Amino acid sequence: MYRDEFPILDTTVYGKPLIYFDNAATTQKPQAVIDALVRYYTTLNSNIHRGAHHLANVATEEYEQTREAVRQLINAEHRHEIVFTRGTTESINLVASSFCQAFLRQGDEVIVSGMEHHSNLVPWQMACERQGARLRVIPFSDDGVLDLEAYEGLFSARTRLVAVNHVSNTLGTVNPVARMARTAHSHNVPILIDGAQAISHMAVDVRALDCDFYCFSGHKMYGPMGVGVMYGKERWLDAMPPYQGGGEMIKEVTLEKTTYNELPFKFEAGTPAVGDVLGLHAAIDFMQRVGIDTIARHEAELTAYATEQMTALEGLRIYGTASQKTSVVSFLMGAAHPYDVGTLLDKMGIAVRTGHHCTQPIMDRYGIPGTVRASFALYNTKEEIDTFVAALRRIAPLLA
Ligand code: PMP
Repeated sequence: MYRDEFPILDTTVYGKPLIYFDNAATTQKPQAVIDALVRYYTTLNSNIHRGAHHLANVATEEYEQTREAVRQLINAEHRHEIVFTRGTTESINLVASSFCQAFLRQGDEVIVSGMEHHSNLVPWQMACERQGARLRVIPFSDDGVLDLEAYEGLFSARTRLVAVNHVSNTLGTVNPVARMARTAHSHNVPILIDGAQAISHMAVDVRALDCDFYCFSGHKMYGPMGVGVMYGKERWLDAMPPYQGGGEMIKEVTLEKTTYNELPFKFEAGTPAVGDVLGLHAAIDFMQRVGIDTIARHEAELTAYATEQMTALEGLRIYGTASQKTSVVSFLMGAAHPYDVGTLLDKMGIAVRTGHHCTQPIMDRYGIPGTVRASFALYNTKEEIDTFVAALRRIAPLLA
């Protein structure tokens, strides 16, 4: 589906057609996104916002149009609530640094879940260490489902923030973040959602979710690497100090003192990745042309098909079997090391990811070194899954 628009999918690996099942790490890019990058560097390259010349004006206009496209994509109330960053990691670090500087004090608490990507765990550990605060962790079941009763019980008068992923990159679980936001707000606590694994799979409406922060990366939604988004409610962004100092984030600078620019520029110090931002706009247009419902339906079909076939293989165990999940299938085969499985699959042209997937606490929870992870996107096919399952069947005896 829409496969022809992704030139890289014609690649062969070791003489075999590439089967790309590493979409949770990064998605491939449609021609329209590649063209947007080429067009920017061929016809528009210039530094934005401060130029008095034609190229700078057009680039600025297109950069700001992308902000509006992102606003519409996630249904934010204001365009200035959209801050461009390098990716989810930088978005979360921005909040962990800036929010915590303003609102986290000694003895306070931050709630995270036990299934966070390191990007939504380590920045909070660092902030807690800096401020003398502590982390409280939501446990999850063997199926990979968060324990919401335990979550409710973690709130105290010292809770300052909840930070949780919308979708787990390792288990595929879709967490009930709207409900979790309601719980947090009933305790007057804001919630940050790591949307890195949700944004390309489902419609995201930050006002319906009523989240205070929502973070994602362009490269996981068919867009370029090097650009991401930090959405924050205006009232929080207004109350937070800048993250980095430099050009563009200032209103007035003297040697003694600096006053800061208005939103969103207060949080966008330095030259941004203008070309990548324009590429993100092309990715949003692409996704909207296909339709998020079409993408979700196709991925759900692939996931159900793969899960059924894989479950039938002897000795194969799937980690993450929540009823609500995206197109991620993490698994182990017998006693085989995930790396060996990944290497053998690679030799057959099949790209999967192996290891802890930047979620070591999940591996500790299950007492395993890592998993093999196959993750599907809109351009994958049932025929590819057939080839993949046949490959697993072939390599099983080699690993025994
Ligand atoms: N959170 C989750 C759930 C992720 O899957 C990832 C990427 N693997 C990240 C955060 C970090 O994203 P990035 O590397 O694009 O900053």
